[in-house]
Amino acid sequence: MTERTLVLLKPDAHRRGLIGEIIGRIERKAGWEITALELRTLDAGTLEQHYGEHQGKPFYEPLMGFMQSGPVVALIVEGERVVEGVRRLAGPTDPIAAAPGSIRGDFGTIVRENLIHASDSPESAEREVALFFPGRV
Ligand code: GDP
Ligand code: MG
Repeated sequence: MTERTLVLLKPDAHRRGLIGEIIGRIERKAGWEITALELRTLDAGTLEQHYGEHQGKPFYEPLMGFMQSGPVVALIVEGERVVEGVRRLAGPTDPIAAAPGSIRGDFGTIVRENLIHASDSPESAEREVALFFPGRV
C-alpha cells in the first residue's frame, strides 16, 4: 500500500554531517520518493505539538532543548509501506540497542541524540505532515 511518512533529521545529524548519508539510505530504497524536503530551525510551539505525547516525561524538557539546538531537515517520503520501513531503517529509540545496519545503530550512542524521527503510524504521519508541511495536506 502506498503511504507517506514524516521524517526529521535531528540537529545532531546536521551537526555531524550525516544528512547526506541518512537521506541516501532512504533514497536508495526501491520505489520510495522524497516529495518534500526543507532545512529549518524548529520553534517551541511546533515541537510541543509534535512531541505532545511525551509532555511531563523526564526526557521531555531536554528533548525540547536538543531539538531547538540547531536546524533539522524535514522530509515527506512516500512509497510502499514507508511508515514501517523508515522506522526499520532508523532502528529502535536507544541507539545502543539498535542493530548495526540501522541508522541509529550505525551512528548513535545517546538515546536523546538518535539522529532521526520517523512517524510511528499512518495516522501519526498525517498529523505530522499537516504540522510540518501544511500545504501538503
Ligand atoms: P521514537 O519514536 O523512536 O523517536 O521515540 P519516542 O517517540 O519514544 O521518543 C521521542 C524522542 O525522545 C526519542 O527519539 C529520543 O530522542 C527521546 N527519548 C525517548 N525516550 C527517551 C529516554 O528515555 N531518555 C532520553 N534522554 N531521551 C528519550
Ligand atoms: Mg515517537
